[in-house]
Amino acid sequence: MKKYLIAGAGFSGAVLANQLSKNIDCVIDIWDERDHIAGNCHTKRDEETGVMIHQYGPHIFNTDKKEIWDFVNSIVEFKPFINRVKAKYKGNIYSLPVNLHTINQFFNKSFNPAEAKDFINEQADKTIDEPQSFEEQAMKFIGKDLYKAFFYGYTKKQWGCEPSELPASILKRLPVRFNYDDNYYNNPYQGIPVNGYTELVEKLLDHPKITVTLNKKFHFSEELLQQYDHIFYTGPIDAFFNYQFGKLGYRTVTFEKHTADGDHQGNAVINYCDDNVPYTRVHEHKHFTPWEQHDKTVYFKEFSKETTEQDIPYYPKRLQQDKTMLLQYREAAGSTEKISFLGRLATYRYMDMHHVIGEALDFSKAFIQAGLAGTRPPVFPNTEN
Ligand code: UDP
Repeated sequence: MKKYLIAGAGFSGAVLANQLSKNIDCVIDIWDERDHIAGNCHTKRDEETGVMIHQYGPHIFNTDKKEIWDFVNSIVEFKPFINRVKAKYKGNIYSLPVNLHTINQFFNKSFNPAEAKDFINEQADKTIDEPQSFEEQAMKFIGKDLYKAFFYGYTKKQWGCEPSELPASILKRLPVRFNYDDNYYNNPYQGIPVNGYTELVEKLLDHPKITVTLNKKFHFSEELLQQYDHIFYTGPIDAFFNYQFGKLGYRTVTFEKHTADGDHQGNAVINYCDDNVPYTRVHEHKHFTPWEQHDKTVYFKEFSKETTEQDIPYYPKRLQQDKTMLLQYREAAGSTEKISFLGRLATYRYMDMHHVIGEALDFSKAFIQAGLAGTRPPVFPNTEN
């Protein structure tokens, strides 16, 4: 019988444990340094208000892959939820992501789709061919005015640098639409688990072959490698190697909690785009479960800052120096034996839940197949870095 150790009980570790337990004659130890499972997707009921809170910030499940949607729905019940974010800028509230309503509100017009497209085209910077940075991407597709209002200040607060220093890929996450569709995501499958994400992870891990240990930090050692047939690491890759090539850059977020009676802002998420407002957004969590009734409410102001030793890493910055450092870590990881690295932190990528789950499912398959074929198991999921 095989003996596996998984470091980290977030989605990567939990999906992997689930798939290995179903397909291999094995026992699995899964450790997490926190006092709970589900990593940054952890949800729990707030004691004072009874509202289900997303302890590490809002998580709205959305995917374009039916098999991933079917997978999570086969484990717990999801209810449909469409994320409709609002933005506050200079005292006015606007619709997001940038859509026909935003354009008409902002320029005080009543354009139809074709008129709006022409108008925005006139504003767009036509000298930019292949946008290299966040700023160029914005200037090419929405022009200076919308960029300055909705993206410049917010992005400076969120990332702590000029948008011209950031990759275009960050902005490509968000759609720009010339109709009144204000769904924040383009993906066709979107919802929230009725009893929260922690239950989903609990069920993934509910198998006699799996033993979960909390408050247990992973430190690599040769003894561990002797004890287990394979180790799967889902923590930060630089920490695994004791930061021998330096620290990878991350932004972290902190939350200021408030409770009140009734309804605070009438929506799950409102972004604050002015750069003189210190927080980036306010989330009011009872609006993530519109099927529940609560007299009281709880909301969080979200602040972004550089990550220090004590902070939880959230957003990989992936500046040029980080990418160079990452290659060194990946090379070191490639020469390890009996260890694999997966998930957002171990691959140092900006990943949503559905990316993490999809990748863990594919990785599990590849690992199981390598076992059957007697070939070397994959060190990383099969992706570009
Ligand atoms: N962004 C912005 N203004 C907004 C919302 C987003 O400038 O009102 C930028 C910001 O740089 C952010 C990126 O777009 O990091 C991607 O936004 P998304 O909502 O996908 O970020 P997440 O939910 O992952 O924090």
